[in-house]
Amino acid sequence: MRYHSTRDKSKSLTGGEAIIKGISEDGGLFVPESIPKLPGIENMLEMSYQEIAQMILGMYLTDFTSDEIKEAVEQAYDSKFESDEIVPLVVKGEAVFLELFHGPTFAFKDMALSILPYLLKTALKKNGIKDEIVILVATSGDTGKAALEGFKDVPGTKVIVFFPEDGVSPIQRKQMLTQEGENTYVVRLNGNFDDAQNGVKKMFGDELFNKELGQKGYVLSSANSINIGRLIPQIIYYVHGYLKLIKEGVVKNGDLVNVAVPTGNFGNILAAYYAKEMGLPIAKLICASNDNRILTDFFQTGAYDRRRQLMTTSSPSMDILISSNLERFIYHTSGEDDQLIIEKMSELSKEGFYHYQAERDLVYPDMATEEEISYWINHLHNEEDYIMDPHTAVAYCAYKKYCELTKDHNFTMIASTASPYKFSDKVLKSLGVVSTGNDEFEKLGQLSELMHGQVPSKLAELESLPVLHDHLCDPVNMKEITLELLKGGAHHD
Ligand SMILES: *Cc1c(COP(=O)(O)O)cnc(C)c1O
Repeated sequence: MRYHSTRDKSKSLTGGEAIIKGISEDGGLFVPESIPKLPGIENMLEMSYQEIAQMILGMYLTDFTSDEIKEAVEQAYDSKFESDEIVPLVVKGEAVFLELFHGPTFAFKDMALSILPYLLKTALKKNGIKDEIVILVATSGDTGKAALEGFKDVPGTKVIVFFPEDGVSPIQRKQMLTQEGENTYVVRLNGNFDDAQNGVKKMFGDELFNKELGQKGYVLSSANSINIGRLIPQIIYYVHGYLKLIKEGVVKNGDLVNVAVPTGNFGNILAAYYAKEMGLPIAKLICASNDNRILTDFFQTGAYDRRRQLMTTSSPSMDILISSNLERFIYHTSGEDDQLIIEKMSELSKEGFYHYQAERDLVYPDMATEEEISYWINHLHNEEDYIMDPHTAVAYCAYKKYCELTKDHNFTMIASTASPYKFSDKVLKSLGVVSTGNDEFEKLGQLSELMHGQVPSKLAELESLPVLHDHLCDPVNMKEITLELLKGGAHHD
């Protein structure tokens, strides 16, 4: 399997090379030359999460040996997940929540970022690269922590995370600022997520800067969802979820299901699209946005227009105006038209908008306001005694609107992307619980009672952990601070 750039089809890399590079020099994203097909459902029914992972990764990363893939899978999907099943399913009515938040940082980013470091390490070895890898991360909250955890003390790597100073939840902030590990750096940014993402993209594209780093023994790589090594592991849970629904008798083999995904950078929903193209019987992709409804508008009208104010919402991981992976989706659904991508992306960067009518049959776009998020969190709790986080509630709301509009009764898999504990403030307010104080940890306690469970220990202990990172910078200084943090030079061992 070779990988092309969305902006240059003639580029041809192995999976390992694409993972190391993260993004193509031409600004494009790496995409597989073709989408492999799953074996028949009946041949996969007895597979564990890890076995499905091995099978899917093996199809995409053909330059890896099966032992290399097996080892990465075993190191990634182990007891650091709270559940043996890795992704537990919770069925409510005609929907099932794929709970993707039982990893070490309580958000779905763990699904891919617990394996990416092992894929990257293997790729480096295979390609004879001796430089130290610097993972640059722009985060709206969850990727940062998951990357820090995933790469913490992995030899030959350093991680530098930029998060928007006012754009993450108190728990996310605390999770990142208390990060341990010799090779981890966390920087608060005076700006929003798009500033962070732009700054990081600029560093990747800056030849002189990369040369300078090269002289110090460093090479940049990315753990953002632009890295194909993030995307491929996300296909696994859709396949796993469908198989489990069949095994539990909820759907029959071959029944069509819909997928509802709370969407920001379009990575998670793109993985569902890949799963569909691989042969999983997915009918609709319900693309759910919050008040930053740029994708809803795009799919409804064909106009992608970023000339608007980014809003800060209760689902911060979706507070995005530049949805990077949409580029991959347009590439695939336009018949791999790299010239079209060059044209549209240059319009976006120069004018701030472009027009393109994406395929209408595949994607149902909708959005949830802050009031709707609260309403559905409260409603589901009342009806089913089940509590969702605000991101998942965005997807649930879009799903409900879709059902109302179409009367479609296909079973729906809802990507449940974060633990409610990570966003306890909004959840408690939605449930009408008056918080006694402003204290985050008191809120966790209150929420745990409503959830009939215990606050996960990794979150409870945050309260007493010391803050270890105190860098703050403006978007224009991201390059400078990166050089400053790396000034000691690479360590070779
Ligand atoms: C990252 C994230 C999303 C958005 O996922 P994309 O792949 O960027 O579309 C949604 N919910 C949570 C909790 C996240 O962390």
